[in-house]
Amino acid sequence: MPPRRLHPPRSPRRAHEAWILEHLRRQGRASRAELVEATGLSRATVSALTADLLAAGKVVVTKTAAPGRVGRTPQSLSLDPAAGLVLGLDFGHTRVAVVAADAAHEIVGSASRPYPRTTPWETRRAIAVRLARKVLDGQPGATLAAVGIGIAGSIGDRPAVVGAIREAFTGAFGVPVRTDNNARLAGLAESVWGAARGIPDVLYVRLSSGVGGAVILDGRVHRGRGDAAGEFGHVCLDPAGPLCRCGRRGCLECYVRVETVLAHGGVTTVSGLAEALDRDDQRARGVLAEAGQRIGLVLAGAGSVLDVSTAVLGGDLAALGEHLVRPVRQTLARHLPLDEVDDVTVRTAELGDLDGALGGVALVLHDPSITFTGSLPPRLTGSA
Ligand SMILES: [Zn+2]
Repeated sequence: MPPRRLHPPRSPRRAHEAWILEHLRRQGRASRAELVEATGLSRATVSALTADLLAAGKVVVTKTAAPGRVGRTPQSLSLDPAAGLVLGLDFGHTRVAVVAADAAHEIVGSASRPYPRTTPWETRRAIAVRLARKVLDGQPGATLAAVGIGIAGSIGDRPAVVGAIREAFTGAFGVPVRTDNNARLAGLAESVWGAARGIPDVLYVRLSSGVGGAVILDGRVHRGRGDAAGEFGHVCLDPAGPLCRCGRRGCLECYVRVETVLAHGGVTTVSGLAEALDRDDQRARGVLAEAGQRIGLVLAGAGSVLDVSTAVLGGDLAALGEHLVRPVRQTLARHLPLDEVDDVTVRTAELGDLDGALGGVALVLHDPSITFTGSLPPRLTGSA
């Protein structure tokens, strides 16, 4: 199916070119066969269009084989890496992470800096701008196209914090800046580069001190009416349950936030819980069975409504691997209206601590309003 969000085409040919360029921008690289499948255009049309795009220098040939592939490697195409760099940032509660990637989705630099939880936003912003400059200094001559920034917590409730971050980066780099919740961006990144790569519809849950997530539909972040989609942590499991920090009762987060799970397991660290599970400790197993069931029930509710059967589990608890995945998968399989249990896919996240920053990169690459032509002047060392 062709992408849904398109600028009004001037001609069918221009529209078809735009489909191909948008697909490459979103996916990084694709073979001609994958472009035929993604756009619905004929093989001959894709062949002619890509020849023109190659001749015009808008796309380039890349030859990296997919992991594990044997035999002849099909040629992949990508946007010209020189079309510009994208910076992705993630403001967590205790550190900021930065990733720089090119238009072909290659990660060309990354860094992170810790800060205490009590650090004021003004200081966090200054640390982040300095770190972003340092990462870009490693790419002399490159052009920065845009910056995508993830921020921990509900960003809709803190317009002043978000506005000041956008202003700081616009002032420092003179390029478009986009912001979003960092858990949502982590889910987007998993769908582009990580555990759900190539799967269009995905439910992502991040299980740490807070429980958040993302709903990815047709490869795009679903935002919802109030820009709050993906808040799995505040789905009610029991109206008479414990009081949640959101003011309501019995939310998923009350039962499965990492501190609660560890306390119930009688341990203080996730690795301690993993060790207990590895030696088949009954208490730890019971705690995981219960947590997995609750997570699975919430995912099954969302999955039933949206007809989605792929879930990715991220955050601190994801380190428990199959111990966590198994009860979630079993619950999902029991409650989703599926013919085959095999239709359910539950995986742990793959991208580690850079997930939110990578999501910032994806946020920009998926935004058709950001031009990505390499024609912008280099502004890598502009004044703050
Ligand atoms: Zn709540």
